[in-house]
Amino acid sequence: MGTMDQRAVEVFDTTLRDGLQVEGVSATVEDKLRIAEQLDVLGVHYIEGGWPGANPKDIEFFDRAATELRLETSTLVAFGSTRRPRGKVDDDPTLRNLVDAGTSAVCIVAKSSEYHVTQALQTTLDEGEAMIADSVEFLVGNGRRVLVDAEHFFDGYKANPEFSLRALEAAVVKGASHLVLCDTNGGSLPHEVSEIVAAVHTHFGSDVTLGIHCHDDTGCAVANSMAAVLAGAGQVQGTLNGLGERTGNANLSTIIPNLQLKLGYQCLPVGRLDQLTAVSHHVAELLNRAVNPQAPYVGSSAFAHKAGLHTSAIARAKNAYEHVDPELVGNGTRFVVSEMAGRATITMKAAELGLDMDGPAVNSVIDDLKRLEHEGYHFEAADASLELLMRRATGWEHDFFRVESLRVLIDESPSSGFNTEATVKVWVGEDRRVCTAEGNGPVNAIDTALRSALNGSYPHLDRVHLTDYKVRILDGAGSTGAVTRVLLDATDGERDWTTIGVSTNIIEASWRALEESIVYGLLHA
Ligand SMILES: [Zn+2]
Repeated sequence: MGTMDQRAVEVFDTTLRDGLQVEGVSATVEDKLRIAEQLDVLGVHYIEGGWPGANPKDIEFFDRAATELRLETSTLVAFGSTRRPRGKVDDDPTLRNLVDAGTSAVCIVAKSSEYHVTQALQTTLDEGEAMIADSVEFLVGNGRRVLVDAEHFFDGYKANPEFSLRALEAAVVKGASHLVLCDTNGGSLPHEVSEIVAAVHTHFGSDVTLGIHCHDDTGCAVANSMAAVLAGAGQVQGTLNGLGERTGNANLSTIIPNLQLKLGYQCLPVGRLDQLTAVSHHVAELLNRAVNPQAPYVGSSAFAHKAGLHTSAIARAKNAYEHVDPELVGNGTRFVVSEMAGRATITMKAAELGLDMDGPAVNSVIDDLKRLEHEGYHFEAADASLELLMRRATGWEHDFFRVESLRVLIDESPSSGFNTEATVKVWVGEDRRVCTAEGNGPVNAIDTALRSALNGSYPHLDRVHLTDYKVRILDGAGSTGAVTRVLLDATDGERDWTTIGVSTNIIEASWRALEESIVYGLLHA
């Protein structure tokens, strides 16, 4: 790669390879292709797509990527390893698969710690070095740009720096473009990373680009990555939302804005940073793994302010309470509203939602909030229901549909177990529709029946689906019966929202939340 602008840092995303090591997540080839498109929208330099040869899914991914993916900004990378100990490069299946993947760049993992060469590989240090040299030479000879992931580099360097540097030199001499220093166990701390990266940087100068690949086992993956960049690394590896095995990989959703907004490095092409929140949520959605609400920059609470003394002060000087302008990363300021909310908070919330509310409307919202929260509602957790409540206070009513009646039947038979069936009668304009559906439970049955009733009128509903359903039994003091609170999370792939229903009857509580969820989805179609 030669020299690069010192203020530029490459972003290497490994969500599709290392990120998918996380427990409980599996992605289809289709999902992986969609995620790669999102990463290209964001504009990362490299997308590590997987390990061709490790499993049929990754082979299919690279096959389809070659014909179906139209990447405009990013370069797709195939991942593999160096040749086997005492083997030959020409008949090494891993290296063959890497070349066959057909990507212009490849990344190979190489053992750069004495302990791992002698103990894990059971071979000599000379052979360990030759494995790296031969493999890089072979791949460069096949016209590939070669990045070398130096596995266990920091632990290895601490124990035997001489061998760890020798391993890197073997790669550079044979033409590797990047040396990626990996904190594979994730146990390093920022001061150690800083010192070691600086030493390696001094050793190699501008002959090669150094990369940093951190895991979050000490909670320092972001800090370690930043320390490495400040010490001379020109590439940061990580995953969106910090996905990865154990405690996760370095979180690019945090690192990228840190580097661009705080330190002035250019990581993404101009004009792409404001895609960060949308892409992080879209990828999370494709992997069915919601973004942590408290995630820096991209979390739904990242710029949320709770009502209180600060509220009117925030209105006057937002930047006194927000470390960056949320719009720079595509997020937004949000005001969290509860029964404690005063006029200032409601007025701010109205402004956030673009509602024009006069004094009486604000007062009526405050009264409604107090009454409903006393009944068991909790609007802090249900922003979509709050928005609908505030809109109604301005005289608004939705006219998407009108429910005439709703019926749910549950029966049990020895042959087929429990069965649930729901019938809804709704009006869409002048059109009366009666629909019946079965479901694996009452909420599912009602949801399916309502959707089939609205089918045809609102195509956007195809993209809206429920992502979580939480039930809590409230045993409030003074109440005569247990009250059920239902929170329903939904998404249309771009926006996530939560609605709430409260009743002594769980079906009624669920229905309230569901109806509002659909209305909100249609309102923001
Ligand atoms: Zn890793």
